[in-house]
Parts: sequence; structure tokens; C-alpha cells
Amino acid sequence: MTVEHEPWMRVAMQEAELARGTTGDNPWVGCAIVSPRGELLGCGHTQGPAEDHAEIAAARDAQARGHSVVGATLYSTLEPCSFHGRTPACARSIASRGIALVVTGMRDPNPQVNGAGAQILRDAGIEVIEGICELEIRRQLGVWVLEYHPQEPLERAQSMKREVRRDRLAAIYGVTPARMEEWLAKHSIPSIRP
Ligand SMILES: [Zn+2]
Repeated sequence: MTVEHEPWMRVAMQEAELARGTTGDNPWVGCAIVSPRGELLGCGHTQGPAEDHAEIAAARDAQARGHSVVGATLYSTLEPCSFHGRTPACARSIASRGIALVVTGMRDPNPQVNGAGAQILRDAGIEVIEGICELEIRRQLGVWVLEYHPQEPLERAQSMKREVRRDRLAAIYGVTPARMEEWLAKHSIPSIRP
């Protein structure tokens, strides 16, 4: 099961790269919608702040190409959002479009989401598979997590030995050891250097 989902998640990851650095405080997320027969119906990435998130951009792309997304599988690098902020909640929008299966890479570390998006989908009767290409996606979104949701790396940091913290966290979040050293200092976490 996992193996067949990876190639589509990689399509979503490539889409996500198109949005890197253009999304303000939003994460650069990518999304692909695939028919039950395995055809790409639409893809999209997060637009600017207060504009469409990746899931909605992908659904609009499918619509523009004349495809129905009813019964389709939606691949998103990040868990769909669960709350109405500057845009309506993507999890609710996905549920209203008749998507049958949602496959995600990583849970949204935003404490307002963190599993709540997946729960909305499941409550709506949609199957959800989480954690496809998760390690790679955490590296892809690492800079965003470090900047906007430091509680996640801070929790990891506290469970690691001081000597390995910098290098392990740098590998997990896809940044250089030097950048990680800076981040640790900013958050007053002891690193290799005293
Ligand atoms: Zn969203």
C-alpha cells in the first residue's frame, strides 16, 4: 500500500517546491489529486498568504481541466488545515468535494491543527493514510517548522543528548549544522559548544 502511494506523494512534493518562499507564514505545501484509475486529475501548491492552500488549488486545477474529483485520492504533503483562518478549513472543503481517500505526508505541527484536520476527514467518512514520505517532507518544510512551530523541534531537542543535538536536528529539519547551532542558541538550548 505504502509503496504505491509514494510516487504520487513525490508529485505533490515537486509541486510544493514551486511555492517555497512565496507563502508568507504559511507552509509551502503541494497537492496532487488522482483518479481511482491512477490518472492525475489536478495538482497545485499553496498560494500567497490569505489565498488558496494547496488542496484547494489542486481541486480548482482538476475542475479547470474538466475532471470530477468524486471518488478520487488527494495527496497532500501536509495534513489539511482544520480551522477557518484567513481561508476556510481545507479539511471541510475536501470533505464537501467527495474525495474518497486522503494521503498525507506530515501532520501539521500547528497546535490548532495537529491531527484535527485528519479527524475532520475521518468523521466525514473519508479514509486517511498518514506519514507517506514523512521524513523527506519534514526536511522539505524544516525551515518553516523551525521558524513558526519551534515547539516541535524544541521537544525533540530536549529528548536528545547535548553532543548529538545539533547534527541530529539539522538532519531532521534539512538545514546546515551552522543554522541549527544558531537556532539552538536563539532558543537557549545548550548545543555542542558550551
Ligand atoms: Zn488549508
